[in-house]
Amino acid sequence: RNNIDMKDIAYCADVIRNGGLVCFPTETVYGLGASAFNSEAVKNIYKAKGRPADNPLIVHISDYKMLELVTDCDGEQRNVLNKLAEAFWPGPLTLISHRDDAVPAEVSCGLDTVGIRFPSHPIARALIEAAGVPIAAPSANLSGKPSPTRAEHVIEDMMGRVDVIIDGGNCDVGVESTVFDIAGTKMSVLRPGAVTLEQLLSVVNTADELDWMKPHMDSDEKPRSPGLKYRHYAPNATVNIYDGVRPNLSNYIIEEIKNAKRQGFSVGVLATDESICYYKEVDGVVLSLGSLEDSLQQASNLFHCLRRFDDMGVDMVFAEAVPKGGAGDAVMNRLYRAAGGKIVTVETARDSEGHIC
Ligand code: AMP
Ligand code: MG
Repeated sequence: RNNIDMKDIAYCADVIRNGGLVCFPTETVYGLGASAFNSEAVKNIYKAKGRPADNPLIVHISDYKMLELVTDCDGEQRNVLNKLAEAFWPGPLTLISHRDDAVPAEVSCGLDTVGIRFPSHPIARALIEAAGVPIAAPSANLSGKPSPTRAEHVIEDMMGRVDVIIDGGNCDVGVESTVFDIAGTKMSVLRPGAVTLEQLLSVVNTADELDWMKPHMDSDEKPRSPGLKYRHYAPNATVNIYDGVRPNLSNYIIEEIKNAKRQGFSVGVLATDESICYYKEVDGVVLSLGSLEDSLQQASNLFHCLRRFDDMGVDMVFAEAVPKGGAGDAVMNRLYRAAGGKIVTVETARDSEGHIC
């Protein structure tokens, strides 16, 4: 990351310009990129990932000239775009604005909008700059699987399906960018990420947040954030999420694990540094997301943990919910979707005086 070989970057940039596919690191997760101006290359992204044809891609830029090429907006939307770009770019924020015709419809699945992001990762920026064209990219995983946060994850999913994989080490943020729609009648966070609604509200006056905890949409409904309609980010294992107060929470999970073991399932636990001690006796794969108090650490570990459960042949993952706020919303959003949209709330046991016991 800090010692980039520009000869390698020039090679990858050629591949992009010639219509090929390059996997590259960003500060959020690894991307699977093609020239955003080449519709054939963009179609190949969908093929390589097995991605549904109605889930649009994000266009990655490395300067503001490229922003002009891909967006078609003025007036208040332009003002807002400039202010948000100044506050959060380069960084883990995708802005949905109106699409310029220069961007082929395939990038946005026919929507009149386009998602744009200016990444901060030096390798991503060097690649886009050298290519001289914006790079359209979703995450570099097979569709539905957890996003890749390490080169080994990309190699596992994409080797043989793309032209180049750049190994840039581990991604810092670990969950995908915040998606913020500034093209709709009301500005809205469509996908939570490391940039929070609170932070966005320090720049724009009003904005809301899509309620991602509502049931799955019908497949023929046109969702505002197309990616949200799929079970996603999921390991092969079944994921169950439990929310409640510790230690009741852990006791409840341990009972559930005993049931699962009786039925012959191999189990995994996704705990935190503070709770992992409760699972010492569990015969299974017990991982910590990090400290309960550090949502950024949880975000950066989440997808690696989900992939490790698969590597270890786990059938059922029992995950503790983490607190909301900061990147916690993004972590819960991804876990919730890996679980197919359900959370079990564990009732807190109280003594006769109402104290939690
Ligand atoms: P990925 O980061 O791989 O999940 O892909 C990009 C995600 O950004 C999609 O799944 C959508 O949720 C969102 N996105 C990209 N472009 C648009 C758009 N034009 N309108 C709404 N959401 C979008
Ligand atoms: Mg993705």
